[in-house]
Amino acid sequence: MRSIAPWACTPADSRGRLYAEQGGIRGPRDAFQRDRDRIIHSIAFRRLRSKTQVFMAPDGDHFRVRLTHSLEVAQIGRTVARALGLNEDLTEALCLAHDIGHPPFGHAGERALEEALAGQGGFDHNGHTLRTLTVLERPYPGWDGLNLTWDMLEGLAKHNGPIHEPQWALAEADRQFPLDLTSWPSLEAQVAAIADDIAYDNHDIDDGLRAGLLTLDQLMEVPMVAEGWRTVESSYPGTDRKRLIGEMVRSQIGTMANDLIAATRVRVADSGVQSIGDVRAAGRCLAHFSDVMREAERGLKAFMYANLYHHPDQIAAADAAHQIVAGLFAAYAADPGLMPAEWREALPADAPWRSRHIADFIAGMTDRYAIKRYREVIGPIDLPEGF
Ligand code: MG
Repeated sequence: MRSIAPWACTPADSRGRLYAEQGGIRGPRDAFQRDRDRIIHSIAFRRLRSKTQVFMAPDGDHFRVRLTHSLEVAQIGRTVARALGLNEDLTEALCLAHDIGHPPFGHAGERALEEALAGQGGFDHNGHTLRTLTVLERPYPGWDGLNLTWDMLEGLAKHNGPIHEPQWALAEADRQFPLDLTSWPSLEAQVAAIADDIAYDNHDIDDGLRAGLLTLDQLMEVPMVAEGWRTVESSYPGTDRKRLIGEMVRSQIGTMANDLIAATRVRVADSGVQSIGDVRAAGRCLAHFSDVMREAERGLKAFMYANLYHHPDQIAAADAAHQIVAGLFAAYAADPGLMPAEWREALPADAPWRSRHIADFIAGMTDRYAIKRYREVIGPIDLPEGF
């Protein structure tokens, strides 16, 4: 039996679910295990398989998509949570769910919806995660949403720390089940957030090289990566480049996770927290990298923005994605009859809910489905290489 830290979340101390549940055959699972399973069994989670992570609707089978990204985040998050004596199931559930509110085509799709809802509250993927899980998923006879624990909703709402001015979708979730938005969330949520960074910092190097948008030579500009490359090259002389890249990325994930674990132990000890209440009241993030790793990671991110995320091919793909999402919104707003019956019949008459409802429909789409609907309701579209 591994030891649980006194500042970990526990199912026994959970603030519970909004709607009381009873009966049914539920198996020997605690509240956080059930949360995790509800995520895995949700429709929104299954749709992540065809949603962009970095590469649009990738037809290359080896690239990450939102689903495989979320699995990698969960794997890193669980490792860190276990090492720190935190609740592994809650951490895993938070990691699996953290990107569930992403619209098709990642941030390009998000920007198009944000513009479409300008003046009507806007669109934000994290707010939409809460909306998806508390309103739009409807597998239960007695209520809308997945009826997740407070601890789970809190961790998702505050994925990036305390919130002082919640966006409308978050504010709705908070009104329904108050989430103490202005405090820091649990360490489980803090670990899930940084596991997200560790996952994409590394898998985007791997995918960027695979796609040919990054070169190893370019990556040598990043001191942390250059050092990792020199280490694997000297440890495995004469080895195939592909294997060395794999080894380099794998080692860097390990180095970052180990740094996170060690630095978090120190911060937790220095802070004097004794309970989950103390974690929420600490007034600062306790789970993060050492200062040295934080700087190194910032350097890596700056490089990735300049060379991969803002690569001309990626910008061309983002422009096409924007055209698809903006075009669909305009078409449905002009003629809601173009939406499937289920969505058309539930359309609210007035602003802002009418527009938000249309955005809900579009945000749920996979990349593939959005392209298909665009061709059906608007017409042909030329897509850049890689779509
Ligand atoms: Mg993510």
